[in-house]
Amino acid sequence: MERAYAKINLTLDVLGRRPDGYHEVDMVMQTVDLSDLVWLDETDGDAIEVESSSSQIPADHRNLAYVAADVFRRAAGIRRGVRIRIDKSIPVAAGLGGGSADAAAVLRGLNRLWNTGFSADELAQMGARVGSDVPFLVQSGCAIARGRGERLERVDHSLRAWVVLIRPPVFVSTAEVYEALSPQDYTSEPRSRQLVERLVAGDLEQVQALVHNGLADAAKRLYPEILQVERRVEHLSPVPVHMSGSGPTLYCLFAARGPAQRLWGAVRGFSRDVYLCRFV
Ligand code: ATP
Repeated sequence: MERAYAKINLTLDVLGRRPDGYHEVDMVMQTVDLSDLVWLDETDGDAIEVESSSSQIPADHRNLAYVAADVFRRAAGIRRGVRIRIDKSIPVAAGLGGGSADAAAVLRGLNRLWNTGFSADELAQMGARVGSDVPFLVQSGCAIARGRGERLERVDHSLRAWVVLIRPPVFVSTAEVYEALSPQDYTSEPRSRQLVERLVAGDLEQVQALVHNGLADAAKRLYPEILQVERRVEHLSPVPVHMSGSGPTLYCLFAARGPAQRLWGAVRGFSRDVYLCRFV
């Protein structure tokens, strides 16, 4: 069994649009201990089969776990069949990288199942063929990701912040949010280096001050529900409210469990989609 951890973006600076149509980003990503569970079993045939506990994701070749298994088998020159079972806990289309985390878990799991001995870097290269966030999610922890998200610089820090995740009730299309960006959403000076220095120093207050998401304004313009939930949480929270990835998930960071749990309890009063977790 592989644990597929969700991620949050501590920073996400959009530097501009590239000639290939993608946006050049510079972001700090951190995994949290909200996870899907992924089981892999070899089968007698040569098919890739996908089962999941959620009806919100496709159980066929469109599932990112399927795509990852396909990429892995080609890279390894293996044609054996595999059954992938996903026990889904990460909210879907939420800005938490759930699909990418499942794909990364499949790459790690097949490497183990078939004893193929690929390094983490080689798995990350395969991951880049599946999706932009997959290379980062091959390992847990923290990293600066550049380019489309595939150029990684791993960051070692020991800050174990508590995180309250709140998912507003709206499905967000990452592509639409990027399409809705305007030049004032772009950054010329990314904050990742400075934020990472504060993470390494263990200074959560300074980290909070540097958290930034260049997609947040565009996402809130497209989906006003995000703003509505953000206002409600702001009333209840002693710390700032941030958005992860292309949204809609909002999060708050705490140094200690007590205040995090109090916010979690207060938000439960109006939303079931609230999670208490930690950096991992
Ligand atoms: P991103 O920001 O990378 O788009 P996200 O965290 O916002 O990711 P996901 O939960 O990864 O969103 O889902 C995005 C889309 O991918 C959904 O429309 C979903 O149907 C599809 N998808 C394919 N495979 C999976 C999977 N294993 N888990 C979740 N979603 C999946």
